[in-house]
Amino acid sequence: MGIYFISDLHLSPERPAITQAFYHFLSTIAKSAKSLYILGDLFEMWLGDDDDTPLYREVVQHLKEYNLQGRSSERKTYFMRGNRDFLIGKTFAQSAEVTLLTDPTVITYQKQRYLLMHGDSLCTRDHDYMKFRELTRSADWQKQLLAQPLDQRRQYANTIRQQSSTMNSLKAADIMDVTQEAVLQVMEENLTNTLIHGHTHRPAKHQLSIHNQPAQRIVLGDWNTQGWYLTIDKNNQRLLISFDI
Ligand code: MN
Repeated sequence: MGIYFISDLHLSPERPAITQAFYHFLSTIAKSAKSLYILGDLFEMWLGDDDDTPLYREVVQHLKEYNLQGRSSERKTYFMRGNRDFLIGKTFAQSAEVTLLTDPTVITYQKQRYLLMHGDSLCTRDHDYMKFRELTRSADWQKQLLAQPLDQRRQYANTIRQQSSTMNSLKAADIMDVTQEAVLQVMEENLTNTLIHGHTHRPAKHQLSIHNQPAQRIVLGDWNTQGWYLTIDKNNQRLLISFDI
């Protein structure tokens, strides 16, 4: 039992071993979970719920089976969009039998409040990215993009990807990490002493202090050569665990 958190798997047809590790995770480690929280960037790229990439169809099917099997134990899977799969919509959620969460979301487990985020909105020093984020999260922009044929969306995504990898290689590493002010502000606003997020690919447990009270920021790791997950058990013990892929 307990609740489980993962993020940043970046599943793609080019990296089949990571997908296999995800399926294995679902059928073994996460099988006894009370809830599974996927905090964004499950997919390397999601261009709309009509995306017909065979791998994506397969992943949806696996998630669905996992969630149908979990019905008898009332297990639920929650999904928060990341910056790579922010176009995930209701059709995906219905097909995969997951519940979509807005970013941020507060959950209560064993009388503790946990603030869940993907994490990209906390990287406030990256001004270019914050602008891009604001634009691409607008309903109008998304509607316009989704109205284009899938081929055009793929071309557009490749251009953005190349631009962003060129830009990121020119940025100092700390610009692409969260800022402490943004972290403390969102934690105070949401009256919580524990924040869980992904995105930065810097797995760690950071001890903080809010109004002289101990607080914690837990960062999930990405799945690359290792897979990462966080589990919180009924005694509120928090374990950040990695395994080889
Ligand atoms: Mn991300």
